[in-house]
Amino acid sequence: MTNHPIIKRGYYGDFGGQFIPEMLRRNFEELEKAFNEAWADEAFRKEYLELMRDFVGRPTPLQKAERWSERCGVEIWFKREDLAHTGAHKINNAVGQVLLAHRMGKSHIIAETGAGQHGVATATACAWAGLPCTVFMGADDMKRQKPNVERMRLLGAEVRAAKTGSMTLKDATNEAMRFWIANPTDTHYVIGSAVGPHPYPMMVAEFHRIIGEETMTACARLDLKPTHLVACLGGGSNALGLFLPYIDQEIALVGVEAGGESLDSGRTAATIEKGSPGILHGAKTMVLQDGEGQIQEAHSVSAGLDYPGIGPLHAHLAAVGRLQTEAVSDTEALKAGMLCTRLEGILPALETSHALAWTLKAEWKGDELVLLNLSGRGDKDLETYINDHGRHV
Ligand SMILES: *Cc1c(COP(=O)(O)O)cnc(C)c1O
Repeated sequence: MTNHPIIKRGYYGDFGGQFIPEMLRRNFEELEKAFNEAWADEAFRKEYLELMRDFVGRPTPLQKAERWSERCGVEIWFKREDLAHTGAHKINNAVGQVLLAHRMGKSHIIAETGAGQHGVATATACAWAGLPCTVFMGADDMKRQKPNVERMRLLGAEVRAAKTGSMTLKDATNEAMRFWIANPTDTHYVIGSAVGPHPYPMMVAEFHRIIGEETMTACARLDLKPTHLVACLGGGSNALGLFLPYIDQEIALVGVEAGGESLDSGRTAATIEKGSPGILHGAKTMVLQDGEGQIQEAHSVSAGLDYPGIGPLHAHLAAVGRLQTEAVSDTEALKAGMLCTRLEGILPALETSHALAWTLKAEWKGDELVLLNLSGRGDKDLETYINDHGRHV
């Protein structure tokens, strides 16, 4: 709920808020009200849960990773979000928001996308709902991620190139906002992670809460008592989905950021570790910025983690010491992804490989029980893995 006790007027401690153009004030009020009503409405929940089961393929399994555990020296279980429809957790939020937009009577969906994963998830949900969909994508990203562009078009979405700035995710987000300001009444903007102005961070997290809830149910059935939850941090949605039902419990929450080339190279996406408080995309959060408050380019081998901000709830949880943050380099992530493929028969998304890499280098006592969110499959990253493998053999 967006009126969860952890939030006060759209803020999580010092972070969050709603820094939006006046033109969108009504949209945000309408959205918050509609979400709170829908999420409290049993009929809406039922429809959402049926779609999660029949369209998305949930619940996803909780699987003991035998050989990975042996390699790390601690017992590790994978929450298999890679087995969800379209190959990652992102579909949970896309379906949830499209369903909400439909209920609000919106007739047009827009979204931003970086690597194309959120664009594909949104276009998929829109195809199912029969709603027209426009996806904004940086012109440079469109060149780099051509298969996802084609896939969105096959699903019936219009893909619009953002040709400003660095022509990547940040610029696509700006273009989507601009479009929304010009078309406020009939359009809903589906944001793809737990970022942006209130109520998006909590709404996106709630649509992913099912990850943690299924995990709890599976743990009860298997009599597992986890000590650590581990997930990679891009904007923070897969991590929050797993963490949310556990926040008030005694369990370590570990978020793994993309260190990029290295933490001190200036080519990193480790926002909590290397950033400072600032405002990005309508919320106060930790951001990578220079001395004058100009947003810096993030760098990560993984497109889904290549973002100079982080969801405000993570910024808050880290500031109060509830969230442990770690960073993993591009090289460590690539190696871990390939090792997981060999040891477990699962080719993970490069984003996920960051979480995996940390479990390899963490100092375990051996009596812990670790649940790792295997956020997505790595088919989209095949070329990057193969090129890197070529460099090492
Ligand atoms: C997009 C993506 C991420 C990063 O986004 P979060 O909002 O931090 O979860 C992580 N894993 C996969 C597979 C993704 O596609």
